[in-house]
Amino acid sequence: MEKLKYDKPVISRITAGVPSKFGLPSKQKIISEIDGIPVSRLIEEYGSPLFVFSEKTIRNTIAEAKQAFETRYPKVQFAWSYKTNYLDAICNIFHDEGAWAEVVSGFEFEKALSLGVNGSQIIYNGPEKSEEDLELAINNDAYIHIDHFDELYLLMKITKKLNKKARVAIRVNMDTGIYPMWDRFGFNYENGEAWNAINRIMLAGNLELTGLHTHIGTYIMAPSAYAIAATKMANLFVATNRKFNHWMKYIDLGGGFASKNPLKGAYMPGSETCPSFDEYAEHISNAIISSEIPHENLPALFLETGRALIDDAGYLLTTVLANKRSSTGRRYLVIDAGVNILFTSFWYNLGIFPSKPVSDYMEETTIYGPLCMNIDVIRDVVNFPHVKSGDQLVIERIGAYNVTQWMQFITYRPNVILTDTEGNIKIIRKKESMETFKNSENKNI
Ligand SMILES: *Cc1c(COP(=O)(O)O)cnc(C)c1O
Repeated sequence: MEKLKYDKPVISRITAGVPSKFGLPSKQKIISEIDGIPVSRLIEEYGSPLFVFSEKTIRNTIAEAKQAFETRYPKVQFAWSYKTNYLDAICNIFHDEGAWAEVVSGFEFEKALSLGVNGSQIIYNGPEKSEEDLELAINNDAYIHIDHFDELYLLMKITKKLNKKARVAIRVNMDTGIYPMWDRFGFNYENGEAWNAINRIMLAGNLELTGLHTHIGTYIMAPSAYAIAATKMANLFVATNRKFNHWMKYIDLGGGFASKNPLKGAYMPGSETCPSFDEYAEHISNAIISSEIPHENLPALFLETGRALIDDAGYLLTTVLANKRSSTGRRYLVIDAGVNILFTSFWYNLGIFPSKPVSDYMEETTIYGPLCMNIDVIRDVVNFPHVKSGDQLVIERIGAYNVTQWMQFITYRPNVILTDTEGNIKIIRKKESMETFKNSENKNI
């Protein structure tokens, strides 16, 4: 008998899911409808791939977040983070639910104004604000969150020129135990830079210091980090009053709450590890309420939650193009949605499910998009049932960052639809066409 070849032992993770008290789940989850509307009908009428947003889920999620904070803190104001998803219809739902606008560019500022948001309800963040952008913000009484000293000097110059007061806050970065620390935005707390910026603003004639802002990172799974941030903000808040006898109006803790999507490499499903709004709210309100700030001077609490408010409301419907085998026998699936419209597939193991019952036989599968590019991988490896070309699949929790960070590449960007609370379907962004290009290009050189 021939000697057997030595195979190195490997420990491989069970990919069948997490055991519950009934053992390992064996049934494949299916998403056959969205808000009661069959996936097959949506694709038939609006094409594939197709982005679908659920108005009901958006409204329920923000209601849940508001409830968590408003029951714990007296003055709470959400501001919708435009860059997370700035489709007009989506922004309008958040504004209708009482959210202000949080913007990070002149473009986003103009978009908020175009939707009828009052300038005094726009929070203007970000490192890039041109002189024209700042003038627009000042003339509209927006809250300008200063990122660096050069922006502060520019503001002093512009307000003097316009002979107008600007409402400003500073962005503060700090050590909250989250690493790597996001210290590229704003003024540092620990080295005294933030305090220095506060002093300069208080001495400048035309700047009204209205608040303090921080955004400690994104997908923060430790609510306790927010308690540290809130405490440090409260310290600056009290110190400013002690020295200048000035109470600011608000403390803005930015965004960053995690969504239920599993990060690549995470062992547990995101739905098990994602803290609830209640947990974040508990840490934040406890920290501010038990700080040295007197109760009668408690600032409003601003929140710029993005990802956690919209991820669950978005779906990407897609169709199987082909089944293949790799040179080593691995099963390959090719679908019609690529990484160009699914930016978050680079961070998450996105949940992808059949839209109708399929065989329970699962096999390790690599799922590719349709692009003629090697990097177009939607899932590196996923235990997936056998499906055929033409079968429709649903990718869940894609509401955040995909319809803003997407790019037009190789093919048109697809329709985006909204299923509204009355059961109607509305196209909220039309599929691109050759017209889209003809309108902005010039072939006559
Ligand atoms: C991106 C961003 C947000 C939203 O962050 P999420 O992690 O999506 O909640 C809020 N504030 C600022 C300043 C941002 O840049």
